[in-house]
Amino acid sequence: MKKHVFSGVRPTGRLHLGNYLGAVKNYVALQDEYECVYAVVDLHALTTLEETGKLKDNVCEVLLDLLAAGLDPTRSIIFAQSHVPEVTELFTLLGMVTPLSWLLRVPTFKEKVKMHPHNVNYGLVGYPVLMASDILIYKAEVVPVGEDQLPHLELTREIVRRFNEHFGPTFAEPQAKLTNYPMVVGLDGRDKMSKSLNNHIELAATAEETAKKVMSAVTDPARKLRGDSGHPEVCNVYKLQGHFNNQRSAFIADECREAKIGCVECKRSLAEAINTELAPLRARRTELAAHPENIERILQHGAEQAKIIARSTLTEVKQRMGLV
Ligand code: ADP
Repeated sequence: MKKHVFSGVRPTGRLHLGNYLGAVKNYVALQDEYECVYAVVDLHALTTLEETGKLKDNVCEVLLDLLAAGLDPTRSIIFAQSHVPEVTELFTLLGMVTPLSWLLRVPTFKEKVKMHPHNVNYGLVGYPVLMASDILIYKAEVVPVGEDQLPHLELTREIVRRFNEHFGPTFAEPQAKLTNYPMVVGLDGRDKMSKSLNNHIELAATAEETAKKVMSAVTDPARKLRGDSGHPEVCNVYKLQGHFNNQRSAFIADECREAKIGCVECKRSLAEAINTELAPLRARRTELAAHPENIERILQHGAEQAKIIARSTLTEVKQRMGLV
Protein backbone atom coordinates (compact mmCIF):
# COMPACT_ATOMS: atom_id res chain seq x y z
CA MET A 1 0.00 0.00 0.00
CA LYS A 2 1.24 3.49 -0.86
CA LYS A 3 2.15 5.72 2.08
CA HIS A 4 0.00 8.79 2.69
CA VAL A 5 1.17 12.38 2.22
CA PHE A 6 -0.60 15.39 3.71
CA SER A 7 0.04 19.09 3.44
CA GLY A 8 -1.98 22.27 3.76
CA VAL A 9 -1.85 25.85 2.51
CA ARG A 10 -3.61 28.72 4.22
CA PRO A 11 -5.95 30.75 2.02
CA THR A 12 -4.57 34.11 3.06
CA GLY A 13 -4.10 35.22 -0.55
CA ARG A 14 -2.58 33.90 -3.75
CA LEU A 15 0.49 31.66 -3.55
CA HIS A 16 3.94 33.17 -3.90
CA LEU A 17 7.38 31.97 -4.97
CA GLY A 18 8.19 30.94 -1.38
CA ASN A 19 5.21 28.56 -1.25
CA TYR A 20 6.04 27.29 -4.73
CA LEU A 21 9.76 26.57 -4.25
CA GLY A 22 9.43 25.61 -0.58
CA ALA A 23 6.44 23.27 -0.72
CA VAL A 24 4.23 23.14 -3.81
CA LYS A 25 6.98 21.72 -6.06
CA ASN A 26 7.08 18.71 -3.74
CA TYR A 27 3.28 18.45 -3.59
CA VAL A 28 3.34 17.95 -7.34
CA ALA A 29 6.34 15.62 -7.43
CA LEU A 30 5.01 13.30 -4.70
CA GLN A 31 1.76 12.57 -6.51
CA ASP A 32 3.29 9.68 -8.46
CA GLU A 33 4.78 7.84 -5.54
CA TYR A 34 2.28 8.42 -2.71
CA GLU A 35 -1.40 8.67 -1.85
CA CYS A 36 -1.54 12.45 -1.54
CA VAL A 37 -4.03 14.53 0.42
CA TYR A 38 -3.81 18.32 0.07
CA ALA A 39 -6.02 20.81 1.87
CA VAL A 40 -6.61 24.52 1.65
CA VAL A 41 -6.62 25.03 5.40
CA ASP A 42 -9.27 27.69 5.85
CA LEU A 43 -9.76 27.03 9.58
CA HIS A 44 -6.06 27.73 10.12
CA ALA A 45 -6.45 31.03 8.27
CA LEU A 46 -9.04 32.11 10.84
CA THR A 47 -6.41 32.15 13.58
CA THR A 48 -4.87 35.35 12.22
CA LEU A 49 -7.48 36.77 9.84
CA GLU A 50 -9.47 39.58 11.29
CA GLU A 51 -11.34 40.29 8.09
CA THR A 52 -12.92 37.12 6.69
CA GLY A 53 -14.89 38.61 3.78
CA LYS A 54 -12.39 37.28 1.23
CA LEU A 55 -11.85 33.85 2.77
CA LYS A 56 -14.01 31.86 0.32
CA ASP A 57 -12.57 33.70 -2.68
CA ASN A 58 -9.08 33.04 -1.39
CA VAL A 59 -9.79 29.30 -1.12
CA CYS A 60 -10.55 29.38 -4.87
CA GLU A 61 -7.49 31.53 -5.64
CA VAL A 62 -5.19 29.10 -3.81
CA LEU A 63 -6.83 26.13 -5.47
CA LEU A 64 -6.32 27.70 -8.88
CA ASP A 65 -2.64 28.21 -8.08
CA LEU A 66 -2.27 24.60 -6.90
CA LEU A 67 -4.02 23.13 -9.93
CA ALA A 68 -2.08 25.38 -12.30
CA ALA A 69 1.16 24.27 -10.63
CA GLY A 70 0.29 20.65 -11.40
CA LEU A 71 -1.89 19.17 -8.65
CA ASP A 72 -4.14 16.64 -10.28
CA PRO A 73 -7.52 15.92 -8.66
CA THR A 74 -7.62 12.51 -10.34
CA ARG A 75 -4.41 11.49 -8.53
CA SER A 76 -4.60 13.51 -5.29
CA ILE A 77 -7.36 14.32 -2.83
CA ILE A 78 -7.76 18.10 -2.86
CA PHE A 79 -10.29 19.85 -0.63
CA ALA A 80 -11.01 22.66 1.82
CA GLN A 81 -10.24 21.81 5.45
CA SER A 82 -13.56 23.06 6.86
CA HIS A 83 -15.52 20.83 4.47
CA VAL A 84 -14.31 17.83 6.50
CA PRO A 85 -15.33 18.85 10.03
CA GLU A 86 -14.20 15.47 11.43
CA VAL A 87 -10.78 17.09 11.79
CA THR A 88 -12.13 19.44 14.47
CA GLU A 89 -13.27 16.44 16.50
CA LEU A 90 -9.80 14.91 16.34
CA PHE A 91 -8.44 18.36 17.27
CA THR A 92 -10.51 18.26 20.48
CA LEU A 93 -9.37 14.73 21.28
CA LEU A 94 -5.68 15.40 20.62
CA GLY A 95 -6.01 18.58 22.70
CA MET A 96 -6.53 16.26 25.70
CA VAL A 97 -3.07 14.72 25.30
CA THR A 98 -1.17 17.92 24.45
CA PRO A 99 0.34 19.81 27.41
CA LEU A 100 -0.19 23.56 27.16
CA SER A 101 3.52 24.10 27.90
CA TRP A 102 4.42 22.42 24.58
CA LEU A 103 2.24 24.88 22.69
CA LEU A 104 3.43 27.99 24.47
CA ARG A 105 7.06 27.29 23.52
CA VAL A 106 6.36 26.95 19.75
CA PRO A 107 8.41 29.68 17.96
CA THR A 108 5.64 30.60 15.47
CA PHE A 109 3.22 31.16 18.36
CA LYS A 110 5.68 33.53 20.03
CA GLU A 111 6.21 35.39 16.73
CA LYS A 112 2.48 35.75 16.12
CA VAL A 113 1.91 37.06 19.64
CA LYS A 114 4.44 39.77 18.83
CA MET A 115 2.85 40.52 15.44
CA HIS A 116 -0.79 40.53 16.62
CA PRO A 117 -0.71 41.32 20.36
CA HIS A 118 -4.39 42.35 20.25
CA ASN A 119 -5.51 39.02 18.74
CA VAL A 120 -3.92 36.21 20.74
CA ASN A 121 -6.84 33.82 20.53
CA TYR A 122 -7.26 30.28 21.85
CA GLY A 123 -7.22 28.96 18.27
CA LEU A 124 -3.77 30.46 17.73
CA VAL A 125 -2.34 28.52 20.68
CA GLY A 126 -3.99 25.37 19.35
CA TYR A 127 -2.74 25.89 15.76
CA PRO A 128 -0.13 23.08 15.93
CA VAL A 129 -2.71 20.66 17.41
CA LEU A 130 -5.05 21.38 14.50
CA MET A 131 -2.12 20.84 12.12
CA ALA A 132 -1.31 17.54 13.87
CA SER A 133 -4.99 16.57 13.50
CA ASP A 134 -4.86 17.31 9.78
CA ILE A 135 -1.81 15.14 9.29
CA LEU A 136 -2.91 12.30 11.56
CA ILE A 137 -6.54 12.06 10.50
CA TYR A 138 -5.26 11.17 7.01
CA LYS A 139 -2.62 8.84 8.53
CA ALA A 140 0.07 10.76 6.66
CA GLU A 141 3.68 9.69 7.12
CA VAL A 142 5.23 12.25 4.77
CA VAL A 143 4.57 15.99 5.03
CA PRO A 144 5.98 18.31 2.34
CA VAL A 145 6.50 21.71 3.99
CA GLY A 146 8.88 24.65 4.15
CA GLU A 147 11.45 24.92 6.93
CA ASP A 148 9.23 27.26 8.97
CA GLN A 149 6.88 24.34 9.63
CA LEU A 150 9.50 22.02 11.16
CA PRO A 151 8.76 22.96 14.80
CA HIS A 152 5.06 22.18 14.17
CA LEU A 153 5.95 18.83 12.73
CA GLU A 154 8.20 18.03 15.67
CA LEU A 155 5.24 18.78 17.92
CA THR A 156 3.07 16.43 15.86
CA ARG A 157 5.60 13.67 16.47
CA GLU A 158 5.57 14.41 20.21
CA ILE A 159 1.76 14.20 20.21
CA VAL A 160 1.97 10.88 18.34
CA ARG A 161 4.43 9.46 20.89
CA ARG A 162 2.26 10.55 23.78
CA PHE A 163 -0.94 9.28 22.20
CA ASN A 164 0.59 5.92 21.30
CA GLU A 165 2.03 5.55 24.82
CA HIS A 166 -1.35 6.21 26.44
CA PHE A 167 -3.68 4.44 24.06
CA GLY A 168 -1.59 1.94 22.10
CA PRO A 169 0.10 2.17 18.69
CA THR A 170 -2.24 4.18 16.47
CA PHE A 171 -0.21 6.70 14.48
CA ALA A 172 3.17 6.64 12.70
CA GLU A 173 5.50 9.59 13.35
CA PRO A 174 5.27 11.75 10.22
CA GLN A 175 8.45 13.01 8.56
CA ALA A 176 8.94 16.37 6.84
CA LYS A 177 9.89 16.44 3.18
CA LEU A 178 11.85 19.57 2.27
CA THR A 179 12.72 20.90 -1.18
CA ASN A 180 16.11 22.33 -2.16
CA TYR A 181 14.67 25.75 -1.22
CA PRO A 182 13.15 25.15 2.22
CA MET A 183 13.38 28.84 3.19
CA VAL A 184 12.94 31.33 0.35
CA VAL A 185 13.99 34.78 1.48
CA GLY A 186 11.79 37.74 0.48
CA LEU A 187 12.65 40.61 -1.83
CA ASP A 188 13.87 42.57 1.20
CA GLY A 189 16.77 40.09 1.34
CA ARG A 190 16.16 39.66 5.06
CA ASP A 191 13.00 37.83 6.12
CA LYS A 192 11.14 34.77 4.90
CA MET A 193 9.17 35.50 1.73
CA SER A 194 5.63 36.03 2.97
CA LYS A 195 2.40 37.76 2.03
CA SER A 196 2.15 39.44 5.40
CA LEU A 197 5.56 41.12 4.93
CA ASN A 198 4.72 42.13 1.36
CA ASN A 199 8.15 40.96 0.19
CA HIS A 200 6.79 38.36 -2.20
CA ILE A 201 6.07 37.65 -5.87
CA GLU A 202 2.76 35.96 -6.61
CA LEU A 203 2.84 32.96 -8.92
CA ALA A 204 -0.09 34.49 -10.76
CA ALA A 205 1.54 37.94 -11.14
CA THR A 206 1.86 39.27 -14.69
CA ALA A 207 5.26 39.27 -16.38
CA GLU A 208 5.40 43.07 -15.89
CA GLU A 209 4.50 42.88 -12.19
CA THR A 210 7.13 40.18 -11.73
CA ALA A 211 9.82 42.26 -13.44
CA LYS A 212 8.92 45.31 -11.36
CA LYS A 213 9.09 43.32 -8.12
CA VAL A 214 12.40 41.68 -9.04
CA MET A 215 13.89 45.09 -9.88
CA SER A 216 13.02 46.25 -6.35
CA ALA A 217 14.85 43.31 -4.70
CA VAL A 218 17.73 43.91 -2.30
CA THR A 219 21.06 42.47 -3.52
CA ASP A 220 24.55 42.30 -2.00
CA PRO A 221 24.59 45.35 0.34
CA ALA A 222 28.38 45.68 -0.02
CA ARG A 223 28.10 46.28 -3.77
CA LYS A 224 27.50 50.03 -4.01
CA LEU A 225 28.71 50.79 -7.53
CA ARG A 226 28.47 48.96 -10.85
CA GLY A 227 32.26 48.54 -10.86
CA ASP A 228 32.41 46.91 -7.37
CA SER A 229 32.83 43.17 -7.36
CA GLY A 230 29.81 41.36 -5.94
CA HIS A 231 29.35 38.52 -3.45
CA PRO A 232 26.76 36.17 -4.93
CA GLU A 233 26.90 33.92 -1.86
CA VAL A 234 25.19 36.62 0.24
CA CYS A 235 22.80 37.81 -2.48
CA ASN A 236 19.19 36.66 -2.45
CA VAL A 237 18.69 37.48 -6.14
CA TYR A 238 21.55 35.11 -6.86
CA LYS A 239 19.91 32.39 -4.74
CA LEU A 240 16.80 32.65 -6.91
CA GLN A 241 19.00 32.48 -10.02
CA GLY A 242 20.10 29.09 -8.67
CA HIS A 243 16.61 27.78 -9.30
CA PHE A 244 15.26 29.79 -12.21
CA ASN A 245 18.53 30.15 -14.14
CA ASN A 246 20.12 26.95 -12.91
CA GLN A 247 22.19 26.24 -16.06
CA ARG A 248 23.73 29.71 -16.06
CA SER A 249 24.07 30.35 -12.34
CA ALA A 250 27.80 29.47 -12.04
CA PHE A 251 28.50 31.79 -14.98
CA ILE A 252 26.40 34.58 -13.42
CA ALA A 253 28.32 34.20 -10.14
CA ASP A 254 31.67 34.62 -11.95
CA GLU A 255 30.40 37.63 -13.88
CA CYS A 256 29.12 39.20 -10.65
CA ARG A 257 32.40 38.61 -8.77
CA GLU A 258 34.37 40.12 -11.65
CA ALA A 259 31.88 43.05 -11.94
CA LYS A 260 31.20 42.11 -15.56
CA ILE A 261 27.47 42.35 -14.91
CA GLY A 262 25.67 44.77 -12.63
CA CYS A 263 22.74 44.04 -10.33
CA VAL A 264 20.27 45.56 -12.80
CA GLU A 265 21.32 43.15 -15.58
CA CYS A 266 21.31 40.27 -13.15
CA LYS A 267 17.78 41.11 -11.99
CA ARG A 268 16.59 41.49 -15.57
CA SER A 269 17.81 38.00 -16.40
CA LEU A 270 16.17 36.63 -13.23
CA ALA A 271 12.83 38.25 -14.04
CA GLU A 272 13.00 36.81 -17.53
CA ALA A 273 13.79 33.33 -16.20
CA ILE A 274 10.95 33.46 -13.62
CA ASN A 275 8.52 34.59 -16.31
CA THR A 276 9.67 31.82 -18.67
CA GLU A 277 9.24 29.09 -16.05
CA LEU A 278 5.87 30.40 -14.87
CA ALA A 279 4.37 31.19 -18.29
CA PRO A 280 2.75 27.73 -18.75
CA LEU A 281 1.48 27.77 -15.14
CA ARG A 282 -0.02 31.22 -15.63
CA ALA A 283 -1.67 30.21 -18.90
CA ARG A 284 -3.19 27.10 -17.25
CA ARG A 285 -4.43 29.24 -14.39
CA THR A 286 -6.23 31.59 -16.76
CA GLU A 287 -7.94 28.61 -18.44
CA LEU A 288 -8.94 27.10 -15.09
CA ALA A 289 -10.27 30.42 -13.78
CA ALA A 290 -12.66 30.59 -16.71
CA HIS A 291 -14.57 27.59 -15.27
CA PRO A 292 -15.30 28.28 -11.59
CA GLU A 293 -17.92 25.50 -11.57
CA ASN A 294 -15.08 22.96 -11.90
CA ILE A 295 -13.40 24.37 -8.81
CA GLU A 296 -16.60 23.78 -6.80
CA ARG A 297 -16.79 20.24 -8.15
CA ILE A 298 -13.16 19.46 -7.29
CA LEU A 299 -13.64 20.72 -3.73
CA GLN A 300 -16.82 18.71 -3.25
CA HIS A 301 -15.36 15.49 -4.63
CA GLY A 302 -12.14 15.97 -2.62
CA ALA A 303 -14.11 16.44 0.62
CA GLU A 304 -16.09 13.25 -0.03
CA GLN A 305 -12.88 11.26 -0.52
CA ALA A 306 -11.18 12.87 2.49
CA LYS A 307 -14.17 12.12 4.74
CA ILE A 308 -13.87 8.39 4.13
CA ILE A 309 -10.33 8.33 5.55
CA ALA A 310 -11.11 10.87 8.27
CA ARG A 311 -14.13 8.96 9.61
CA SER A 312 -12.25 5.70 9.74
CA THR A 313 -9.37 7.26 11.73
CA LEU A 314 -11.77 9.03 14.05
CA THR A 315 -13.60 5.79 14.86
CA GLU A 316 -10.29 4.10 15.63
CA VAL A 317 -9.18 6.99 17.87
CA LYS A 318 -12.48 7.02 19.77
CA GLN A 319 -12.21 3.28 20.36
CA ARG A 320 -8.64 3.67 21.58
CA MET A 321 -9.67 6.48 23.94
CA GLY A 322 -12.58 4.49 25.34
CA LEU A 323 -15.33 6.70 23.92
CA VAL A 324 -17.03 3.95 21.93
P1 ADP B 1 2.42 31.72 4.15
O1 ADP B 1 3.60 31.39 5.05
O2 ADP B 1 2.81 32.39 2.88
O3 ADP B 1 1.29 32.38 4.86
P2 ADP B 1 1.44 29.02 4.46
O4 ADP B 1 1.75 29.19 5.90
O5 ADP B 1 0.07 28.62 4.10
O6 ADP B 1 1.80 30.34 3.66
O7 ADP B 1 2.49 28.04 3.81
C1 ADP B 1 2.21 27.06 2.84
C2 ADP B 1 3.48 26.25 2.64
O8 ADP B 1 4.48 27.06 2.02
C3 ADP B 1 4.07 25.74 3.95
O9 ADP B 1 4.56 24.43 3.77
C4 ADP B 1 5.22 26.68 4.21
O10 ADP B 1 6.26 26.08 4.97
C5 ADP B 1 5.67 27.00 2.81
N1 ADP B 1 6.31 28.32 2.75
C6 ADP B 1 5.72 29.52 3.00
N2 ADP B 1 6.60 30.52 2.85
C7 ADP B 1 7.77 29.96 2.50
C8 ADP B 1 9.06 30.47 2.19
N3 ADP B 1 9.33 31.77 2.21
N4 ADP B 1 10.04 29.59 1.87
C9 ADP B 1 9.80 28.25 1.83
N5 ADP B 1 8.59 27.72 2.11
C10 ADP B 1 7.59 28.54 2.44
